[in-house]
Amino acid sequence: MSEPLPRFEDILELVQAYHPDCDEVLLRRAYVFSAMAHKGQRRVSGEPYLVHPLEVARLLAQMHLDEIAIATGLLHDLLEDTWVSEEELAAQFGEHITSLVRALTKITTMERSFAARQAAQAETFRRMLLASIEDVRVILVKLADRAHNMETIGVLAEPRRRRIATETLEIYAPIAHRLGMGALKARLEDLAFAQLHPGEYARLKAQLEQREKVAAPLIAEIRQVLTRLLEEHSIAGKVHWRVKHLYSIWSKLERQGIGLDRVYDFLAFRVIVDNVPSCYAVLGLIHQIWRPVPGRIKDFIAMPKANAYQSLHTSVIGPQGQPFEVQIRTQKMDEIAERGIAAHWRYKEGHGARQESERIAWLKSLVEGQLDNPRDFLNSLRLDLYPEEVYTFTPRGEVLAFPQGATAIDFAFRVHTEVGNRCAGARINGRLVPLRTPLRNGDIVEIITSPTQVPRRDWLEWAVTAKAKNKIRAWLNRQEKDQAVDAGRRLLEREARKLGVTLKRLREEGSLQKVMTDHGVAKEEDLLAAIGYGRIAPRDVLAPLVRPVGEPPPSRPRPLPTGDAVIVVKGARDFLVYRAQCCNPLPGDEIVGYITRGKGVAVHAANCPNVRRLLFAAEREVEVAWEGESGSYSVPVHVSFEDRTGMLAAISKAVADQGANVRSCHLSTHDESLGTIDLIIEVRGRDHLERVLASLRAVAGVTIVTTRVNQGEARRGKAV
Ligand code: MN
Repeated sequence: MSEPLPRFEDILELVQAYHPDCDEVLLRRAYVFSAMAHKGQRRVSGEPYLVHPLEVARLLAQMHLDEIAIATGLLHDLLEDTWVSEEELAAQFGEHITSLVRALTKITTMERSFAARQAAQAETFRRMLLASIEDVRVILVKLADRAHNMETIGVLAEPRRRRIATETLEIYAPIAHRLGMGALKARLEDLAFAQLHPGEYARLKAQLEQREKVAAPLIAEIRQVLTRLLEEHSIAGKVHWRVKHLYSIWSKLERQGIGLDRVYDFLAFRVIVDNVPSCYAVLGLIHQIWRPVPGRIKDFIAMPKANAYQSLHTSVIGPQGQPFEVQIRTQKMDEIAERGIAAHWRYKEGHGARQESERIAWLKSLVEGQLDNPRDFLNSLRLDLYPEEVYTFTPRGEVLAFPQGATAIDFAFRVHTEVGNRCAGARINGRLVPLRTPLRNGDIVEIITSPTQVPRRDWLEWAVTAKAKNKIRAWLNRQEKDQAVDAGRRLLEREARKLGVTLKRLREEGSLQKVMTDHGVAKEEDLLAAIGYGRIAPRDVLAPLVRPVGEPPPSRPRPLPTGDAVIVVKGARDFLVYRAQCCNPLPGDEIVGYITRGKGVAVHAANCPNVRRLLFAAEREVEVAWEGESGSYSVPVHVSFEDRTGMLAAISKAVADQGANVRSCHLSTHDESLGTIDLIIEVRGRDHLERVLASLRAVAGVTIVTTRVNQGEARRGKAV
């Protein structure tokens, strides 16, 4: 690059053209200070370093930004690359500009932490970036910085060039898009494309130029027709056309696997008019000349895109039968489409920006159009696209996202339950802090554990995430349950003494077992705990057992029998447990429990489709586990077959061959050729079921064998 050093005076002139009474002194001081600090430094290309901040400032002036943004552009690399300290910068330019430069330096730090990232984290990085930024000007300066770096990237070594180009494509071009800056986005994408696929870039560029040449007469004709159309109807307006940027065409070719000759919308016409009614009028007139392609009329005026883009789009069939796109919009909409949020920034003359605090001035200068201010714009952007989240790093550079307000406790439980249960303190960005310290964007968090630490009740106040709260509660509950069991035993024994019976006798008679079933608990321990917690009165447990002879048993709804004492609810209290009928989990399956309304804990296979729906109610989830693999379990099996005699016998045999029992069986024939058998079979576990299914599938004439919703062909299951 041997371009002449850009002149500060030219940039100043550029600013004064749209902002005549800008703070010239501030800009000049920023320039001189930057020149001094960067003195003697050279870029990899060999040119003086100062070229870079000047070019960034020029780009910002081209966006018509205010002097704060331009001064920040001039100073943006000082903290990172020179001897200038934050204190010195603040003394010279005040806290505001310093905070913007600081934020830019922080982005560079984040980029470094992300250099070794997995590709899938680009989205996370974009979120983190937008979430951590207080002032949109930081992003705008960053984008200008990146645009100039991309333009001068040719001198860098290949791996570094690829990394920066990839980062530009995955992170900064999408941010420009989110901010509605169409022109900058296209520029960043094409610059990155040229680096990442130089061969294809050159080839496509040549092809497009060729196509453009061939299409020239057609372009001229269409343009003329459109211009005449405006004249004839006395609509003030202009007609432009443009070829889409290379990267967008290339992605389309890649995505659809087609050749360039099949891309019809590589060129688009644009009609810029004065007002909204004219937009719709022009649309109607165009459709009278050329037939619209059905389904391709888009009204982004009535329904603006999320990034505030507004325009009417239509695709029509051209004079020689080829489709092309026309975009119709007002001057204002066009500016927003090209410059996005920067268009909202435009300095308004006579606003008296210097009388008010900078922030207010900035907000007010942006009160234009349907977006009230850029802060709203930024907030709505975050709200729409990114929930309010905080992004933090583990010491190894992994990114963990948390809801706002989350603390080091949440971080600890996110790392691992054991880390949470044993966490004694935290180190955030190298400093020792209390566990209740809220996490902030970009924090590097390290959890300190101690083998003697246990969860405390006040942690519940500090934890924000459901996971941390659940784990803390589970641990506390386990502790409390032991105490409750003790208390329950004492209470029940005292009640028994009053009634003149002993628990030992009741246990031997089996009547204690019966009363447990009545109360929906599976184990004596759970019954005792329920008494200890005060949820069941000892009298209610014992009174029915010692009632006078002949009196009918008290009628109360009988809960479902468990039959599944081999499933335990971890760390929880006395719950009735049953296997969900949609997936009929078997030993060997991964299982999860959900607390149902009034029926105890439903145990599902972890891959049951109903579980995915229930995940939205995470607070109902409890940990369950198989305890031993004894017993047999009922599972429905549906067998379809081509009707033939002896099928029922063959199927029974296939089941019996595998050592399973048929508990019930229902046969139906649909017509001469087809029938189904619905079986309930009893198996010992998952593997056993698999063997039975294989055996059934091997029976001659059997066409389909299905079972639980999570296995084989899906069947509608019952939700809990
Ligand atoms: Mn820079």
